Amino acid sequence: MRPFRCPKGTSKPQGSLSFHGFNEPFWGSLELHIFPDAKAVVRDLVPDEPVILNRPHAAMRAARFFIEKFPGKSLYAVKANPSPELIQILWDSGVTHYDVASIAEVRLVRGVLPDAVLCFMHPVKTPSAIHEAYHTHGVRTFSLDTVEELEKIVSACRNPETGEEARDLRLCVRLRVSSEYSELSLASKFGCDLTEAPVLLQQTRQHADWLGVCFHVGSQAMSPFAFVQALDRTRAAIAEASVVIDMIDVGGGFPSAYPGLEPPPLEDYFAIIAKHFESLPIAYNAELWCEPGRALCAEYSSLIVKVEKRRGEELYINDGAYGALYDAAHVSWRFPVRSLSDVAEGAEQVDFAFYGPTCDDADYMQGPFTLPEDVRAGDYIEVGMLGAYGAAMKTGFNGFGNAQQLIVADEPMASLYDGSRQRPVADNVVSLR
Ligand SMILES: *Cc1c(COP(=O)(O)O)cnc(C)c1O
Repeated sequence: MRPFRCPKGTSKPQGSLSFHGFNEPFWGSLELHIFPDAKAVVRDLVPDEPVILNRPHAAMRAARFFIEKFPGKSLYAVKANPSPELIQILWDSGVTHYDVASIAEVRLVRGVLPDAVLCFMHPVKTPSAIHEAYHTHGVRTFSLDTVEELEKIVSACRNPETGEEARDLRLCVRLRVSSEYSELSLASKFGCDLTEAPVLLQQTRQHADWLGVCFHVGSQAMSPFAFVQALDRTRAAIAEASVVIDMIDVGGGFPSAYPGLEPPPLEDYFAIIAKHFESLPIAYNAELWCEPGRALCAEYSSLIVKVEKRRGEELYINDGAYGALYDAAHVSWRFPVRSLSDVAEGAEQVDFAFYGPTCDDADYMQGPFTLPEDVRAGDYIEVGMLGAYGAAMKTGFNGFGNAQQLIVADEPMASLYDGSRQRPVADNVVSLR
């Protein structure tokens, strides 16, 4: 397969970018300065607080990749990064459907995109959230994994005057599948078991205008085989239930690239999903959906942090466990880093751990983060691949929540979409037979 190339004109930002009114950013202006890269930001601003650097061109490229190559419809899972600017960029790139999980996300996306299709894919919702989503925001697609949730949805979507049941519900039964191929499990919390699925599918069919099966293989699935086992399970549930299925949603889990986590090409995931989808016992016109979060936005952002103190091979920086580096602390995620100081050619590289700015011992990131050996207080570091589950995780704990957001034009520290990646060694790739 040929590496994906950006359509002409979308590979770089155009020099200025206009925002679209929602949550007007603090600078309040529609014309934005675009910095060439993180070094230029440090030179111009000498920032005392962390700075989030956004790359609209990288998000556009990821969206175009999914739109053009995934053999079905690609939703964006908003929780990975709910930034209104990003949501607008994805819409402008062709993403029309959004996976939302709370009423706040429903309102947010509806506020940015009046015409987007919103799919409420959290299997445990409050009746008032369902009611508002259906009656106020036009949401028709809901997921569920119990009969209680089915009853809740049916009841909340009734016509308030006549009490009549809604006839236009598009319902997705969430199956529990294995997370064994993924770096972050989403297996234990949601999804009905294979033993419960057939009855739930039959019951849901009676209330659904359109019935889907959805699952999530866990985030950062490092092998396409994650989707094979999930689709096998889907097949078993459908065969047992003997109901007409209109849609299969293979969820998120599509990986991005991080140090020590170099996944096979996404084309391999798409091919194996298409193959197994086509052999399912479903309606001839059944749709295939996916709902990536990470893969659409990981490359969108990086973060500039400042070194406040050095103690041996530990660097005290100004973002951490309660900020955009939540995953670095809580699940020891390794993000790529680079020094923004002028480093002498051939300087030795050393493995560092980070402490975040709060007074909590848990504000610690073991890394390792490899940087030049002479890093010291006052230096700046860029942490890459933070567009997914980075900026979205920031809290104000201990007074350290601030971060300016700027746009930069350079490439993300790694990309699955710029044509630069080699095919990995064969034993990393599942055979398509
Ligand atoms: C979190 C989530 C996603 C996105 O997962 P990624 O691993 O970021 O792709 C998609 N669907 C559902 C239901 C989710 O909870």
